[in-house]
Amino acid sequence: MTEKLTAIEEACVTLGLRMTDQRRVIARVIAEAQDHPDVEELHRRAAAVDDRISISTVYRTVKLFEDAGIIERHDFRDGRSRYEPVPDEHHDHLIDLRSGQVVEFRSEEIEQLQEEIARRLGFRLVGHRLELYGVPLDAKTGSRTGSKS
Ligand SMILES: [Zn+2]
Repeated sequence: MTEKLTAIEEACVTLGLRMTDQRRVIARVIAEAQDHPDVEELHRRAAAVDDRISISTVYRTVKLFEDAGIIERHDFRDGRSRYEPVPDEHHDHLIDLRSGQVVEFRSEEIEQLQEEIARRLGFRLVGHRLELYGVPLDAKTGSRTGSKS
């Protein structure tokens, strides 16, 4: 059991959400994911634990958690919503357009710059979303070959 699972479950209890076994499995899958999975991927992982969990249950549960502010939804331009637990500490994302892999980062310079820009425009910053899209610098065409023995 991860700390994040405890956090999701605690949040559900606090909010008065009934925790069924299936919701618990889905909460655990979200808590353990490091890769911002979409609903289909969450369903694959949840169904591997309990094959009675349908994709519509995953959709409903994810919506419930999102509406309750327990998880965050991201749209990284690939046409599918992806999810992660609401992080303890804010971070931003860089998306590798080749692999779809999501890299988390945090830059104090960017954080301060954004606050400064908002202030100059007459606002107190209360939140932001920043997504960078890139391809690996060392990306080569063709397949990646490991050392052959
Ligand atoms: Zn993230």
